[in-house]
Amino acid sequence: MPANLTIVDHPLVQHKLSLMRARETPTGMFRQLMREVGLLLGYEATRDLPLAETEIETPLESAMLPVLAGKKLCLVSILRAGNGLLDGLLELVPSARVGHIGLYRDHATLAAVEYYAKLPEDLPERDVILLDPMLATGNSAVAAVERLIELRARSIKLVCLVAAPEGVAQLGRAFPQVPILAAALDRELNDQGYILPGLGDAGDRLFGTK
Ligand code: URA
Repeated sequence: MPANLTIVDHPLVQHKLSLMRARETPTGMFRQLMREVGLLLGYEATRDLPLAETEIETPLESAMLPVLAGKKLCLVSILRAGNGLLDGLLELVPSARVGHIGLYRDHATLAAVEYYAKLPEDLPERDVILLDPMLATGNSAVAAVERLIELRARSIKLVCLVAAPEGVAQLGRAFPQVPILAAALDRELNDQGYILPGLGDAGDRLFGTK
């Protein structure tokens, strides 16, 4: 397993991802599953949030108990498929700030071209969870991380559904400090840059555009 990659092998994640991969899974169900897997991946992605002991009055007595230490998070969705993971993560951390980066894939070169970016101004004080369901060539993830580093995000981790070895290697070469959390590491890319076996075009399946 590459050093920068963690696979979430929880049975619920694996089951839901397999349902998402099935060609016949309809848009509404795909969207619901993406939200659920987003929540479960978010559970893992937030595992290292620091806690602070705080005094709490239970109905019986006062006790020092752990609560989140107020670490500032920013969820950044790579448009448009990242929005499918965003909903589940926001259920877990409703107060997180949200940024969006729009990137499209030039189909001839597979290069990522930025067409939109709206991010909180206080990124240097925030830990970013970057959301991109399909880590294929790695071009979009690298472009998004470049942008976040330019804006001096305090830390960055990437959450995706399906990773390809090529994408993991590319992101690892460019930014070895960025950990990747994924539900699966698939076999390879085809010559159009789609992940095999994959689940098809995540954006089209999420929004029913094809
Ligand atoms: N983007 C997708 O949506 N699917 C892939 O397989 C690769 C990139």
